[in-house]
Amino acid sequence: MKKANGVPPCDHCRKPSAIELEYSAQNLCRKCFTRVFERRVWKANQQFKLLNRKDAIVVGVSGGKDSSALLHILAKMAKQIGFKVIPVLIDEGIHRYRNKAVKKAEEMCKKLGLRLKVFSYKKLFGKTMDEVIELRNKGKISGKACSFCGVFRRKALNQAAVELEGTKIAVGHNADDIAQTFLMNLLRAEPQRNARFGIIDEPQEGFVPRIKPLVFNTEKETAEYCMINNLPFYLGECPYSSEAFRGEVKNFLNETEGKYPGIKFNLLHSFLETKEFYENGGKKEAKSAKCGECGSPSSNALCKACGLKQMLKKL
Ligand code: SF4
Ligand code: ZN
Ligand code: ZN
Repeated sequence: MKKANGVPPCDHCRKPSAIELEYSAQNLCRKCFTRVFERRVWKANQQFKLLNRKDAIVVGVSGGKDSSALLHILAKMAKQIGFKVIPVLIDEGIHRYRNKAVKKAEEMCKKLGLRLKVFSYKKLFGKTMDEVIELRNKGKISGKACSFCGVFRRKALNQAAVELEGTKIAVGHNADDIAQTFLMNLLRAEPQRNARFGIIDEPQEGFVPRIKPLVFNTEKETAEYCMINNLPFYLGECPYSSEAFRGEVKNFLNETEGKYPGIKFNLLHSFLETKEFYENGGKKEAKSAKCGECGSPSSNALCKACGLKQMLKKL
């Protein structure tokens, strides 16, 4: 239903809407959208048991939109649940990129009355990312920028969490990131990686578990959340991001989502269901019923063939 001025009303409160959620054909005003966004984080918390009162949550912030939104909502939840929030930024040493983002991260922390702790690759590993790439470009080492950077960041965040006595590390991965990772692992024929990563990591000796509270929100929604709530964030891209396979998968998913709204969430749910299936030792399959008509294995009362046969009989 459109209003006279062309702005459809909010589906929750009937005030003028500001956001359209294409995959669910919902129009929402700013206030209702913020509530929906935050409710999904509470839902993730409940479903995956991410946060509890005694936690000290190390939040990986980068100055980008995902981690700004994450820090904002975790600071809100901390007041209700009682856990501690420790924002940490990993400085990769990427000239004209990270230094700009750090300013936004500092601004964000100041807004929330939190102190930002910074850990750098240079200090931890002896080299900045720019220096690593220089060595790579000279042919002294080989590999893509993100392969080095991803390994270093994981290690750095873990080390920071250990030093700061964090019980969990929260990262700003949203639904898009998780769908991308799931698909990338399949495309690289590394399905075992999908078994290892989750919304909360399996406990591993020496590793602080990582949690992904933004799992049910898309990248676009995360950006909207930041803008609506006036959260500072840096929009620039890492100069090495063009080397990443992730970028190709991301473009593919964005294009396909444009044609078939909802495919990112479908992929996310496929990931969660596959994980649950394996974690249950394939019990879902074992529990599936037989067709009441012909006895073939079927998860419904009738198998597809018998269902069609019955439908045709009525015509
Ligand atoms: Fe590191 Fe790659 Fe991300 Fe740049 S795009 S910050 S190199 S992981
Ligand atoms: Zn509303
Ligand atoms: Zn049948």
